Amino acid sequence: MPTYARADIAFERGEGAFLFATDGRRYLDFAAGIAVNSLGHCHPHLVETLAGQARMLWHVSNLYRIPDQERLAERLVANSFADTVFFSNSGVEAWEGGVKLIRKYHSAAGTPRRWRVITVSGSFHGRTLAAIAAAKTPKLVDGFGPMVDGFDQVAFGNLNELRAAITDETAAIHVEPIQGEGGIRPHDLDYLRALREICDEFGLLLYFDEIQTGYGRTGKLFAHEWAGITPDVMCVAKGIGGGFPLGAFLATERAAQGMGLGSHGTTYGGNPLAMAVGNAVLDVMLEPGFLDRVTTVGGYLRHRLDAVVDRHPAIYELVRGVGLMLGLKARVPAGELIAGFRAEGLLTVPAADNVIRILPPLIIGEAEVDAAVAIIDRVSAAVAVASADGDTVDA
Ligand SMILES: *Cc1c(COP(=O)(O)O)cnc(C)c1O
Repeated sequence: MPTYARADIAFERGEGAFLFATDGRRYLDFAAGIAVNSLGHCHPHLVETLAGQARMLWHVSNLYRIPDQERLAERLVANSFADTVFFSNSGVEAWEGGVKLIRKYHSAAGTPRRWRVITVSGSFHGRTLAAIAAAKTPKLVDGFGPMVDGFDQVAFGNLNELRAAITDETAAIHVEPIQGEGGIRPHDLDYLRALREICDEFGLLLYFDEIQTGYGRTGKLFAHEWAGITPDVMCVAKGIGGGFPLGAFLATERAAQGMGLGSHGTTYGGNPLAMAVGNAVLDVMLEPGFLDRVTTVGGYLRHRLDAVVDRHPAIYELVRGVGLMLGLKARVPAGELIAGFRAEGLLTVPAADNVIRILPPLIIGEAEVDAAVAIIDRVSAAVAVASADGDTVDA
């Protein structure tokens, strides 16, 4: 179905931060499959693990014990706020599992009247009926009505509006710590801390969507760690499998109290192939120094992008984001700049608010940053000249 505006490029091979197209061209991949290829392409440890597991056992159902699933869950619990984990195949499935858990919690806790979830405008949680109803973005919901009920939306960053939206039917507050599709819009850390306090005050669950922000992207395993608070529920995906389709939702024992036998399920989620890769990703990410290097190289990239904005004030407004989750907000159509970067061999991702998302694999070094910035500079200079000549930049 023609649901994507695809660039006319086909890749046949990847290595680290580079992709190689069928026409022989090499691209520096600062899109990483939209924050998925967290360890770059064909990381040797992932390739070895996947190939080894493929010779042993691909799939058994969740009717049996899956030792690697138990191990990955234990490792996630040991490295997060959570006590319990459910594995899915994708982000939105994990997300919706979290919403189900919230409703079930209040049902089990004797407050079944509480079932509505407060969300924030500009958010993105995936493409199922419930996820589009939560985000309410016109492009996502148009023609797909009537909407799933149960989501109340408030303005980004507005605590007064949020407090006013709480009723005796409110079950939870739900945000992405940094909006991804919404244009790399970070919530203030104080805002996130206030959400924790409000949830405690009103008996609500705090649910974070860390599908894009999680798994080392911001220099912490999970972005909420920067705020020094913990949620009750969290969904992750994208970087968790390094390119293998995998997601998970995590919760405290208390929040998950309703999720008893038979309350949820999946055919593929957490199967041996996925779990082998999931453990291999963590092997690398939990190595001492890995996350610190994300912060260091992210700081260097940020510094170099700030200088790009200074050099091309007519083209860019600002840089925002944390770690290796950065956004360049453009003053000219971002799509034109992204196409220009691509023509010069650099891949980036568009987002709302005319933002160019810079989401490189977490394994890059300064050399890749320098190469990317050189392309961005070159294209920006050409666009600046074209605008000065009166060529249409918004064609
Ligand atoms: C990508 C994304 C999703 C949806 O994940 P899928 O795997 O595409 O279903 C949900 N929430 C956020 C924040 C995302 O970035």
